[in-house]
Formats: sequence, structure tokens, C-alpha cells
Amino acid sequence: MVQEKGTISIHTENIFPIIKKFLYSDHEIFLRELVSNAVDATQKMRRLAALGKYNAELGDTTIQVSVDEAAKTITISDRGIGMTAEEVKKYINQIAFSGATEFMEQFKEARDANEIIGRFGLGFYSAFMVADKVEIQTLSYQEGAEPARWVCDGSTEFELTEGSRTERGTDIVLYLNTDNEEFLDRSRLQQILDKYAKFMPVPIQFGTRNSTEEDGTDEEGEPKYKTVEVPNIINNTNPIWTKAPTELSDEDYLNFYRELYPLSDDPLFWIHLNVDYPFNLTGVLYFPKLKNDFEVQRNKIKLFSRQVFITDEVKDIVPEFLMLLHGVIDSPDIPLNVSRSFLQADSNVKKINSYITRKVADKLLELFRKDRKAFEEKWNDIGLFVKYGALSDDKFWEKGKDFVLLNNTKSEYYTLDEYNAKVKDFQTDKDGRLVYLYTNDAERQDSYIQAANKRDYDVLLMNSPIDTHFTQHLESKLEKTSFKRVDADILDKLIVKENAQQHQLSDDEKSKVKDIFQKAIANEHMQVEVEALSDAELPVTITMEEWMRRMKDMARLGGGG
Ligand code: ADP
Ligand code: MG
Repeated sequence: MVQEKGTISIHTENIFPIIKKFLYSDHEIFLRELVSNAVDATQKMRRLAALGKYNAELGDTTIQVSVDEAAKTITISDRGIGMTAEEVKKYINQIAFSGATEFMEQFKEARDANEIIGRFGLGFYSAFMVADKVEIQTLSYQEGAEPARWVCDGSTEFELTEGSRTERGTDIVLYLNTDNEEFLDRSRLQQILDKYAKFMPVPIQFGTRNSTEEDGTDEEGEPKYKTVEVPNIINNTNPIWTKAPTELSDEDYLNFYRELYPLSDDPLFWIHLNVDYPFNLTGVLYFPKLKNDFEVQRNKIKLFSRQVFITDEVKDIVPEFLMLLHGVIDSPDIPLNVSRSFLQADSNVKKINSYITRKVADKLLELFRKDRKAFEEKWNDIGLFVKYGALSDDKFWEKGKDFVLLNNTKSEYYTLDEYNAKVKDFQTDKDGRLVYLYTNDAERQDSYIQAANKRDYDVLLMNSPIDTHFTQHLESKLEKTSFKRVDADILDKLIVKENAQQHQLSDDEKSKVKDIFQKAIANEHMQVEVEALSDAELPVTITMEEWMRRMKDMARLGGGG
């Protein structure tokens, strides 16, 4: 018995072919939209119960996703608040667009389905990307409510009739079209659920799975096992980013990382983000261990909105230099559904961006102060981020200059201040500029390094791909300092300031050494010179007077002729 027939109030001939056509690449998100609607309805129900506004039994509120290969349907069932027929009319029939013209116009700009859904409230209607026909069976939680059934075949016509549901909640049944039968494949569905629903806040069951269980003992007293079917719950409703850092151990953070990136090495450390003013954002960012020459996969940060996965393209939200980090960010305040340029100009996004930068800088400073040795040990991996950050973000540099490390060929680590103090009296050129010597290939430039070290100069190791830019950056930031490669004909141009050398001899010591040599030679025509540097290449030089040298030469010539 048809209760009501009508036309969905969109002022356009037929919206569904457009949805199907334009959103081709993102078809799979229909499942995210329908499951997150089920989550929303369930959470509303729980809230009502918590507020004492629902006195009946809440029951098991697990959401069920099921497939019927023969009927070619996918069903999403929840035990949420359900809808009355009036509500179906209100919430489902009236799609939130003002008119076809505007819709079509905006449609042209929209880059992907996320944008369409956000702009037009097409969440539910994304079902028509994959289905020819959609059926809703629903029963409202309200006392005395009647079950309602809504069917629409993808035209603008719908049918609203008496429903058959006997328990509170909603079933959404999708009759897949022939182009989208791939979604009948269980492993494909499991994969989509893993991607979008893995951390949704209400348990979601997708069929059953086999599990091994102990089943008494055999004659020898050994335990016996049997295989049992258990519900296949696809999600973790309490991921760590929703918890307080004080509740969590290192092991929790590591396990979560392993869950997200099963094939990766353990991370170096992590940062728990947690802010609710002026925007709401939680998350955990991990510093990965770098592999083969700083090769790190970008786009490994996952963006969630209230535990619903949105995207792993976080380009405009996370500062560019932190794109190498891994982990999760969850914020309902990030406008997910608007165009890129709008996102870049959005003030929340800007605040989020600088908040993340600040947190990362603070964390690094804390690690540096707490355990310098460990920090130095990790510098190989951390350094790339820090240098990249220093280069690309002034605010980060302001903090980073206190924990940026320079390491020399002797594997010693110095902060910028420490290094300045170390070499400022040794390594200046004739213009009084500090000269920081470096090598980008310690093996090939070994002889230069040795020569420099002999003269007591220090040589920095600058061999990562970013170091060329980083040294330029330091030159622009540090006062009167230039970087010179150790083989660049520089050593002889450096001036050693007087009275600055550690091994310098006093005048008194010099004359004592001179006396000793002079006495030993016992020849007044030979001159002894003593260098100020005790470990100079030629600490003591003995020269003959010119006439004496000539006489000797002549004697040698005469003897030979
Ligand atoms: P949004 O979720 O952004 O509100 P949707 O198009 O996804 O937009 O859903 C439209 C409305 O339909 C929801 O706001 C809700 O009122 C109703 N609705 C959809 N699915 C369900 C459901 N499973 N249970 C109860 N109400 C639902
Ligand atoms: Mg929705």
C-alpha cells in the first residue's frame, strides 16, 4: 500500500546521472557516508539514553554491514534513532541545494566527491553513485512511532510507504548497478571499511570470521582447539588519539604506529596533539626512521574528522616541512569540503598549521634538553626535518636555532652557539669573518681534513642533500659567518688570532726553546726560529746565513768537478 508518492525537491531534471558521472573516481566513499550516518544515528541514540530521554532497552548498538551476492545488495543496519515518515520527508527528500543552476555551477569547480558532499549535503545521496535503487527501512525511537519505508530508483521520484522494521533503527539497502558489482566482493568491502571506518566510534560488524578457541584437552592432557565463528568487528572505537597522553604508555604509541604502518621500522619518537581552543584538534604525529638516504614516503599522515577517515592528502593543513611525518590528525574544524585555495586562506587551517609547527619545535627542544645524548644519536634522522623546517618556516627557525646541531668529522655535536664559541678565535679570514670549514665527502677530502685538523681547524660534516641550502641559510642568519669547503684553497687564507691558541708558547718559552737548539747546533751562522704553535707543521726552523749556503754549494761543485 503506497502511503505517499512524490518528487524529491531538487529543481533539476535528474541529479543522479550527474552524481554518477562526475564522481566516478570516488565511488567507494558511498560506504563511508552511509556508515558514518549510521554512526551519527547511534551516537544520538546513546546521548538520548544518557540524558534519560529514552527509557527502553538500548540493546546491542553494533552497526551491521552485509552483502547479498545473489540479490546484489549491500545493507547497512544500525540501531540508532531511526526516522519517522515525516523525518524521512524532511531529511532525505529535501536535498540541500537551492537550485540546479547553482549546483551545476559549483559542480564545475569542485574537485572531488568530498567537496560535493560537503557543499550540498549529498552524504546519503552518494549511494546513487553505485546503486540503481535505494531502499530505507526505518523505525524511530520515539514512542508509538510507525515503521517507514522509502524507495527511490535514481530518478527524482520516490515512494514512501509503511515499513517492516520492528526494532528501532535504520536499514539502508543498496541495489548495486551493473557497473559497480565490484562492491559485492567481500575483500573489496573489507578494504574500504578498513580505510574509512577503522577508527569510527561505534562498533561495526562485517560478517563473521573464523577464530581458534581452546576446546578441552586430549588423552595426553594437551589442549585441543576448535575453530569458531566470531563477529568480524572491523574497527577500533577508541584509537589512542582520543585518549589522554597520561593514560598511554610508549608501548601503546608504538603499537598504534605498527597498526597504521605494519611494514615500517619503529618511529624515533612522537608528539601527541591535543587542543580544543581556538580550534579542536587531536592527533599523534610520529617521526619516522629514515631509510636509504632520506627517502621517506610523503603523504603518510591521515586526516580524520571525528574518527571518520577523510584523506591522506594533508598538504595544506600540515606545514610542508612536516609532510615527512607519519600519523593521524583529527579535527572537525578543518573545512574538508571546500576548494584548495579556500583552504589555504582559511584562518583555522592557518592556526592549525602554526600550532603543529610550534608543538613539533617544543617537542624537539624538550628532547634535546632532557637527553642530549639520545638527541645526538637520532640527529641523523631528526636533522633533516629540523633543517627543512628552519629553511621553510621562520617561526620554526626561531625555536630551532637552539637545538640545531652541527656535527664535525670527529662525530662531535655542537649547537650553533657552542660552535661559534669553539672556533671564533681560530677561524677568521682577513676581513674578520668567521669561516666554518666543511666537507661534503669526508672520504675523498680526507687529506684536506687532516691538513685542517693539523692546524687545529675544525671541519663540519655537511653531507645530506639539504645541506647546501642549509649552509646558505646559516650564512644569512649568523653574523659574519661564511661556509667554505675544506678543499677550496682556504686553509692558507685563515688568520690565527694572536694569543688565542691553546698550544701557543709564551715569549719566554720560545726563547728557552731557541736557546736549547742554538746550544746544540753550536754554530753562530745558523739561525733558529721557534713557531708559536707547538704542534705547527714546522715548530722549529733552522736556517743558514746566505753566504754560508753559497760557500757550501761551491765546495760541492768543486769537489764534483
Ligand atoms: P548529513 O549526514 O551531513 O546530515 P546526509 O545526506 O548524510 O547528510 O544525511 C541526511 C540526513 O538524513 C541526516 O542528517 C539524518 O537526519 C538522516 N539520516 C541519514 N541516515 C540516517 C540513519 N541511518 N539513521 C537516522 N537518520 C539518518
Ligand atoms: Mg552524512
